[in-house]
Amino acid sequence: MEFSSRARHKHLRLAGDRRELYPHSLQFYLEPPTESISLVEFESFAIDRLRLLKVVESLGVSYVRSTDSYKAKLESELRKLKFPYRALAEDDYEARRKDHISHFILRLAYCQSEDLRRWFLQQEMDLFRYRFNELTGNLMQKFLEHVNLAFEAVSEDLKTELTDELLTSTPGLSLTKVKEQMFYKVGLADAVDLFRTRRVFIKDGFAYVPFKEIDAIVLNNYRTKLSKALALTARSLPSIQSDERLQPLLNHLSHSYVGPDYSVQKNTGKISLEQIDALSVKSFPLCMRQLHKALRDNHHLRHGGRMQYGLFLKGIGLTLEQALEFWKKEFIRGKVDADKFDKGYAYSIRHSYGKEGKRTDYTPYSCMKIIMSNPPSQGDYHGCPFRHSDPELLKQKLQLYKIPPSGITQILELVKGMHYQLACQKYFELAHEVDDIGFSLNHPNQYFTESQKLLSGGREPKKELSNSGNSQQKNNTQESMNSNSTPTSSNTTADTELEGLEAYFTED
Ligand code: SF4
Repeated sequence: MEFSSRARHKHLRLAGDRRELYPHSLQFYLEPPTESISLVEFESFAIDRLRLLKVVESLGVSYVRSTDSYKAKLESELRKLKFPYRALAEDDYEARRKDHISHFILRLAYCQSEDLRRWFLQQEMDLFRYRFNELTGNLMQKFLEHVNLAFEAVSEDLKTELTDELLTSTPGLSLTKVKEQMFYKVGLADAVDLFRTRRVFIKDGFAYVPFKEIDAIVLNNYRTKLSKALALTARSLPSIQSDERLQPLLNHLSHSYVGPDYSVQKNTGKISLEQIDALSVKSFPLCMRQLHKALRDNHHLRHGGRMQYGLFLKGIGLTLEQALEFWKKEFIRGKVDADKFDKGYAYSIRHSYGKEGKRTDYTPYSCMKIIMSNPPSQGDYHGCPFRHSDPELLKQKLQLYKIPPSGITQILELVKGMHYQLACQKYFELAHEVDDIGFSLNHPNQYFTESQKLLSGGREPKKELSNSGNSQQKNNTQESMNSNSTPTSSNTTADTELEGLEAYFTED
């Protein structure tokens, strides 16, 4: 893929036989894109796919995948973000192109660590499963031929002859279903899982697979291809990392969330320092509640904690003067005297408010940034408790915070499946006693804002996962592309400067 800084001309995109590049709505993404693409398009495709995969993750946890509600919600998201979906299966060049390119961009961004690879693979598999199962029989057949997985259909005569064997060797099938369903002859190598779990009839080196099990074979094949491709892409990372246009973008994508950046504080000055203790119990997410408690207990936080908590407090509305007072009062109760505070720590706080150095107005950290970077070491309190705490300690903390045992089990299950933000959403629901959080959690400050809205009666608890949160995110992302948000290239400078700021905080 090549990148140009100028927008592409539409006629170039459709020149020649480009439509033939995508004969199907579904792809195994075997060939990377080779066309030129503007950085603007690169970024917007990537953000849209990231948003889609986050919806896939969230739906996968909240709904049974084969249900109508799951399918309806996923289809609606695909339509909204203009990716190929059922109704466009026949011909939609733009959607297919976007699907192809965006997959490869996120593949680059998400091959960088084991955690990222696993997350990406899981969501892409779920997305693929949904789309494959939505194809009509005819399109499914065409797709299988296209990816060289065409299997020979068992003739009606042979099926009749083998009815008894098929019936006894294929669990869950009645005589009527055996008669109704198509069976395919599949080489054993492609049907290993079905063969191993004794779910198919085997004869002469072929598995006789009913139509309803074909998706398992296709998915297996896709999973193998995609995990190999991710490992290969990871090996080529050094050459990608040397591209100074791409590397910051890819890093932002893998650390990014799709939502507002909370850099504009509508609440500035509306929160008093006296309220913080109570707010930390009622409306802070677990990560910030933990930092607040550690600060009150120890009268100190190490630099990772000061960065994470300081910017969060700024995001909920603390003015610079309040922040200086807040940190100073607490620190001088410990080992730091007022003079040392004024000379060292006060500068860094003013810096984070854009009043020193390059005068960058720093944005609070998103969940992805907290989860993916700078893990805490001993003596640190920053990070995400759902990601970085030992499960036993997390359990004790949740018990202490009066989360009911069944809720704790659900949270720990989500943590085990590495759905940290969904575990946090569950915590929100239980802490606020609502059935459904009604938004997709991406940011500690979003947690705070939503909690405050709920507690002040500003929003009704929603019973269903709503799309409105996402459309809001879309608008805000658009806004943030022009300002200073985490997922955009415009943030690159800010991030570099943030590293500069971190240097000011290195004093423990
Ligand atoms: Fe904080 Fe986000 Fe982790 Fe929740 S998921 S504890 S808001 S970092």
